Order: sequence, then structure tokens, then C-alpha cells
Amino acid sequence: MHQIIIIGSGPAGFTAAIYAARAGLKPVLFASAVGIGGELMNTTEVENFPGFPEGVQGPDLMQKMQEQAERFGTEVIYDDITEVDFSGEMKRVTAGDGSVHEAHTVIYATGSAYRKLGIADEDRLSGHGVSWCATCDGFFFREKTIAVVGGGDSAMEEATFLTRFADKVFVIHRREELKASKIMQQRAFDNPKIEFVWNSEVAAIQGETELTGITLRDTVDGSERDLALDGLFIAIGNDPRTHLVHGKLDLTADGTIAVEGRSSRTSSPGVFAAGDVIDPSYRQAITAAASGTVAALDAEHYLAAREQAEQIALATA
Ligand SMILES: Cc1cc2nc3c(=O)[nH]c(=O)nc-3n(C[C@H](O)[C@H](O)[C@H](O)COP(=O)(O)OP(=O)(O)OC[C@H]3O[C@@H](n4cnc5c(N)ncnc54)[C@H](O)[C@@H]3O)c2cc1C
Repeated sequence: MHQIIIIGSGPAGFTAAIYAARAGLKPVLFASAVGIGGELMNTTEVENFPGFPEGVQGPDLMQKMQEQAERFGTEVIYDDITEVDFSGEMKRVTAGDGSVHEAHTVIYATGSAYRKLGIADEDRLSGHGVSWCATCDGFFFREKTIAVVGGGDSAMEEATFLTRFADKVFVIHRREELKASKIMQQRAFDNPKIEFVWNSEVAAIQGETELTGITLRDTVDGSERDLALDGLFIAIGNDPRTHLVHGKLDLTADGTIAVEGRSSRTSSPGVFAAGDVIDPSYRQAITAAASGTVAALDAEHYLAAREQAEQIALATA
């Protein structure tokens, strides 16, 4: 039986582990069988994580976080959690190998997944012209020609933001009308650097080592044409990884795990959540790491209060 089980090995999970381990709580962290290190494993240069003035490769940053967590005694298990039971005082999680693990507290830091187009070469050119994060990668596209795929608020926000860097931003949308709110649409329509490409979808991504362009398919007549590009930003949504906790933890209207105020406390006492799985807005490595800190401190306080209550009960028995 453990004090803390952490589920997830992104910046939130490893930062929670660093804090919990340094507090002497001997955390056990389930890192996933295949997705170890989280979303930053899918990128190349990270230039906005403080402490790395020259930038750092995403996988290197995650390796350092893991080393730091292990240095203070975190046990990392390379398996997925496939089932959780938060109903009792003792929290139970089942791993992919069928083993059941118990702890007084669980930190749930499973992140979220950007929706993909589902076409060949999308993953291969991720970090080489294909991106899901304007805040992270916009800076690399100064004076370039890029495209944003999507028709919602985040696509409009990303397109507008990217005009700070790029000379030209195409917005590619499958229909003739946007889903985005009127105000976000208007902001994009008014921007002279943005050009809308209606009734179109990305049929193919081109480029050997870097993106060089895309093939567009007309969704009305099926015709295809090429568009030369330096960058492609995919902004078609994001899914928090919450499938294991449906019906077990309260969720928000955005589909993230609901937490109390600025804390990491979920609707189930002793279960804390951190990182992108609670965050519909910011979704950055540093905000996820900070959120992991909050979760570790909340779990620590919960454990201390629990121990104190036990001592009082014993003394008055
Ligand atoms: C291509 C790309 C580039 C990015 N670039 C930047 C950047 O330059 N700067 C920046 O600040 N942010 C960047 N981001 C965003 C950043 O990566 C995320 O905000 C951050 O990783 C979120 O951290 P997290 O710990 O909440 O979740 P994640 O990093 O998603 O980690 C969650 C982890 O939990 C694991 N997991 C999920 N379910 C289970 C389970 N059941 N059992 C065990 N493990 C499980 C997953 O496999 C994963 O390893 C980028 C994102 C992407 C996709």
C-alpha cells in the first residue's frame, strides 16, 4: 500500500512526483506502457520552458524531469492504468498487467490529446512544420506562409495569433461557415494576413524532412490542388484523457476533470488531478508542471490531515 500513486508521466506527473518524493512520500508513478514522457516527446525544440535559454529538445526535457523524480525516490512503473476505483477510503488502481495497487491518494495527470487529421505523414512531420500549438511553435514561423486547419474558436484564435509572426495565414475549413463565435470570426475576417480557404480539407502532407506543402481537396466537387506552405497548424480540438474516470469524478462542460477553485481537489476526496487533463485553456508544459506541484502539495496536506485525525481518534479512544 502506498501514500501516493501518480498516473501519467508528462510534466504534471513528474513534477508532482518530484515534490511528493522530496516530501518523503515515496510516490509510485505509472508512466504508461508506450506514451512515457507525455506530449513533449512528440516535439523537437522547446524554447519557452524557463531555465533553458538555448532551448531544449522535448524528449531531453522529459528525461531530465524523470531523472529528477527518480533521484528523490520515485518508483516509475512502465505500465498503463486500465481501471480505477475511488469509491473507498483506500484508492485502488489496476495496471495493464492485471496487478492491483492501493494508495491513500491518487494524482491523476493523464494529459490530453490533440485531435489529428488522421492522414499519412502528419506524425512524421510533427515538430518539422506540423504543429498543434501556436503558442509553442508560432515563433518559429516568422515571415513564413502557414495554414491553420479548423473552424472553431481555437482555430480563429491561433490564426490571429500566428499573424504576429507569419506573413500569410490560410485558414482551411471543411464547410462554408465557421463554428467560431461571431467576435472571433470577425477578428479573423478583419485581419489582412488571413485568407480563408472554404469547403476544403487536407488530403496529403508533403515534405521529406520538413513540411513543404499540402494537397487540398475540395469537399464539394472532390477536386485537388497543391498549396506550398512552411507550416501547418492543426486546431480541430483536444480531448482530455478522462475515459477511466467517467462516472467516478465530476467533469466540466469542457470535458476536463473538475477541481475545486485553484486547488487540484476533485469530487472524490483523496483524488487530485493536474495538468492538461484539468486545463481547457492554457495547456503548456510549465502550467502543467505548476499544476503538478499544486496536486502534490494538496495530497501532502490531505495525508497530514488524515494522519492527524487518526492520532486524535486513537488518543480519545
Ligand atoms: C507537438 C506538441 C508540441 C508542444 N510544444 C510545447 C512547447 O514547446 N512548450 C510548451 O510549454 N508546451 C508544449 N506543448 C504542450 C505540452 O506538451 C503539454 O501542455 C504538456 O505536456 C501537458 O502535460 P501533462 O503532464 O498534463 O500531460 P501529457 O504531457 O499529455 O502527459 C500525460 C501522460 O500520461 C500518460 N497516460 C495517459 N493515460 C494513462 C494511463 N491510463 N496510465 C498511465 N499513463 C497514462 C500519457 O501517456 C502521457 O505520458 C506541446 C504539445 C504538443 C502536442
